[in-house]
Amino acid sequence: MAPDVAVEIRDAHKSYGDVQALRGVTLGVRRGEFLTLLGPSGSGKTTLLHAIAGFHRLDRGSVIAGGTDITHLPAHRRGFGLVFQHYALFPHMTVRDNVAYPLRIRGVPPADRTARVQEYLELVELGQHGARFPEELSGGQRQRVALARALVFGPPLLLMDEPLGALDRRLRQSIQFRIKRIQQELKATVIHVTHDQEEALAMSDVIAVMRDGLIEQVGTPLDLYLRPATPFVAGFIGETNRLNVELIAADGAGPRAQHVETGQIFPIGSGADGSILAPGPALLCVRPEHVRIGGSGSSGLKGDLVTKTFMGDHWRYEVKIGPSTLVVKDTDGGRAGELTTPAAAWIDLDSSVQIFRDVAPRDRAS
Ligand code: ADP
Ligand code: MG
Repeated sequence: MAPDVAVEIRDAHKSYGDVQALRGVTLGVRRGEFLTLLGPSGSGKTTLLHAIAGFHRLDRGSVIAGGTDITHLPAHRRGFGLVFQHYALFPHMTVRDNVAYPLRIRGVPPADRTARVQEYLELVELGQHGARFPEELSGGQRQRVALARALVFGPPLLLMDEPLGALDRRLRQSIQFRIKRIQQELKATVIHVTHDQEEALAMSDVIAVMRDGLIEQVGTPLDLYLRPATPFVAGFIGETNRLNVELIAADGAGPRAQHVETGQIFPIGSGADGSILAPGPALLCVRPEHVRIGGSGSSGLKGDLVTKTFMGDHWRYEVKIGPSTLVVKDTDGGRAGELTTPAAAWIDLDSSVQIFRDVAPRDRAS
């Protein structure tokens, strides 16, 4: 194991009756890293986090922390910080006593406790609220108290399961950045679970995308966005357009493809190196901001412009091409005047198009 790996899980398997919640997961988090498990509901995120916390036994596989096998160590002896929805604050204790609790059970002397509790309350910007009870705080403030309580004893790892799930969107965004700042300040090692891709992008150094009890891809937010390894990742992180095509053998005209449903032949971006493109069926995925749109006189894939919407910082177009609808995001807005709905429009994919082969039927649909 690399020396900077804080905690590692190897070949984790876990079933509940016939449901295989984890089907062989191997993953490590480095010291000081913020890692997010991102995936749809039921993909196994909580099961994986609980295995790391020690809340249940794996059917197979191991958990290693700081080079030591802790697979059979009970949760309370792992000493990890936890922010889970069911790990609510103690309602009968003040904010200060809640945060002091982990120090008290660890036998930290009262004088040291007081100073440290105040330091962590200030860290989460609740220094003035120590005497309040949880019910006298807003939802966002309560989650910050929970964060202070989870971090105050300096755990080697902080585990968070959908900590902002109950908060409204605006509040969630401001707390995301606050948590990220605190994590960076403390150089804390974090494994965080969410099904919200924006939250994952905003907070994480590394994201592990989960699906059906397996990890589909691990990478930085930028990696996953620009170089998704599978159509599922392309669709789950950010928005993506899907086109079923037949790639055409390179013949000097640059890489081209035939759209399966309409038969149109179109160029697929100069960056996709034609020489390495073997002909055959493929799925193209392209981000809305990587599609250019033009009116009559343009070239590319022809479709019908069905909607044109001003979104504040960009124009959004929907273009129907056969059975599929492509979304185009235009931050420049230069085309907005020339395009009318309904009318024919032409779209042009740039070199950021992703080409996938051997795609399972369930990943093909847009
Ligand atoms: P996520 O956190 O990604 O939503 P979970 O880890 O909670 O996913 O669940 C993964 C799968 O295991 C789901 O199909 C879920 O229904 C099932 N599952 C989770 N916990 C239990 C349990 N205690 N008993 C039976 N099935 C469970
Ligand atoms: Mg869950």
